[in-house]
Amino acid sequence: MDSDIYKTLEAIGWALETTPSTQKFSDFAASTIELLARVQLPDGYLNSYVQASGEPRYQNLASSHEWYCDGHFIQAAVALARGTGNQDAMDIAIRLADHLVKEFAGQSRGLDGHPIIETALVELYRETGTAAYRDLAAQFVEQRGHGLAGDSGFGRRYLQDHLPVRERTTEVGHAVRALYLEAGVTDVATETNDTQLLDTSRQRWDDMVAAKTSLTGGNGSRHEGESFGDRFELPPDRAYNETCAAIASFHWSWRLLLATGEAKYADHMERILYNGFAAAINTEGVRFFYVNPLQRRVDHYEKDDPGRRREWFKCACCPPNIMRLLASLHHYLATSKDDTLSIHQYATAAVTGADLSVDVETDYPWDGTVTIRVTGAPAGERELALRVPAWSATAGLTVNEAQDSSERVPVPPDRYLRIRRAWQAGDEVRLRLDMTPRWTYPDPRVDAVRGCAAIERGPLVYCFEQTDQAARLDELTALAGGPLTERTVTLPGIGATIQVSAPGGHVPPREPAAAWTSDQAPAAPDERAVTVTAVPYFQWDNRGPGAMRVWIPVTGQAGPV
Ligand SMILES: [Zn+2]
Repeated sequence: MDSDIYKTLEAIGWALETTPSTQKFSDFAASTIELLARVQLPDGYLNSYVQASGEPRYQNLASSHEWYCDGHFIQAAVALARGTGNQDAMDIAIRLADHLVKEFAGQSRGLDGHPIIETALVELYRETGTAAYRDLAAQFVEQRGHGLAGDSGFGRRYLQDHLPVRERTTEVGHAVRALYLEAGVTDVATETNDTQLLDTSRQRWDDMVAAKTSLTGGNGSRHEGESFGDRFELPPDRAYNETCAAIASFHWSWRLLLATGEAKYADHMERILYNGFAAAINTEGVRFFYVNPLQRRVDHYEKDDPGRRREWFKCACCPPNIMRLLASLHHYLATSKDDTLSIHQYATAAVTGADLSVDVETDYPWDGTVTIRVTGAPAGERELALRVPAWSATAGLTVNEAQDSSERVPVPPDRYLRIRRAWQAGDEVRLRLDMTPRWTYPDPRVDAVRGCAAIERGPLVYCFEQTDQAARLDELTALAGGPLTERTVTLPGIGATIQVSAPGGHVPPREPAAAWTSDQAPAAPDERAVTVTAVPYFQWDNRGPGAMRVWIPVTGQAGPV
């Protein structure tokens, strides 16, 4: 629970970066840091459970979360230093990190079962320049896979301790732990110029996206151990897809984007952000999902839980994790290198990089038009690079055009449109992405959704909720590749949104009832025309309980099944 306070402090650090006058945030941070400074032991140790219980330190690192809490505090201190310039938390973090270096550098006394200390120590190295922090992170990365964390009761894979990081080819075990570790692996590889280590992380990322990731960007196919499953084991109804795993995957993908500049990482961040992550929060922003499946049946229960968003959790990792990502969203929009400003995510924002300042205006993700107005430019040429998401079949690009033009430009293989020129304040670039709704089909090896399709529009994954359908959701099919119709509506519980409808069929249940059939081919859909209607996945479960599905069975010849 220390970590939940620290994640809240981190969120405050990032929030004060953009809204410095928020007094209640500064007051909470100041009083919490003052308390932590008082209770930190003279040698730098800090952990409420161990200090209050009197249990010995570091006796059960695999499950004590001592380094995990340290890591979240160090990251919070870095956020407060960067966001506000205040060094009070940083003083505590440095004492804590120095203590860890003294206790563990060059030692093999164990490993924390929950990574995050790795990214935190690299962040502290970036902030202070103290190489011992980076080196300790590198040591922890290299030590994993040698049995130091051990068998947690779920097996060694649960803690990614079954194989050294450099030898692993696929993600296994607890999804949040695996993905926090990967963010640390990428950080260490980047800060030590270790291309072999970076390449193993990139290969596992490719494998994860190809075979272990839901359409919504979620990870974790199994409730048991909150873990990754086999390759192509991606059940929509039993998917775990913890909110924290989406955040962890976002953090890892960002680090790979920084390390490589490849658009696929920014694409994946977008998929997570608008779908698997955004769905965790209800319309009012006060209820949360811990688990984010792609299907909920009408009679769903997990133990006594009906699978709706809740106000809080006994293990409250997700809500403060949501806060720290939302509070830092402005970090992830753009990067600069040499004389190029690259914009990776589109949101209304003021962006500065490579000495170029621009205002970005857009109604993304609803509308595909992005207007970029130059507000400040140096003498000489600068390059503006704009990502074209993989879902946008075409792109339009104009510079200083008086009127919108429908002119399409070729998208280069790396999917960044580049404009190099001597910019003037007032120059205006307009990017047009193709938001036409589209059908998406699964890899046929994903047995759980074979014969199904899903609807996407721009970066948004859609889902079918019972309340929008004319018949029971589990009796409906859609015409594969059928025409999609969009409609702007205002729905109670959701507000303004864009629905997408498709032609479908109705397959009433067979009588007598049995969950199988010995001699009947599947019934053809009812002749009656049925329309199936979808809403963005992130808006589901805001209109009461009821069935939901992202993947819908398809019939007909219009597309691959
Ligand atoms: Zn969580």
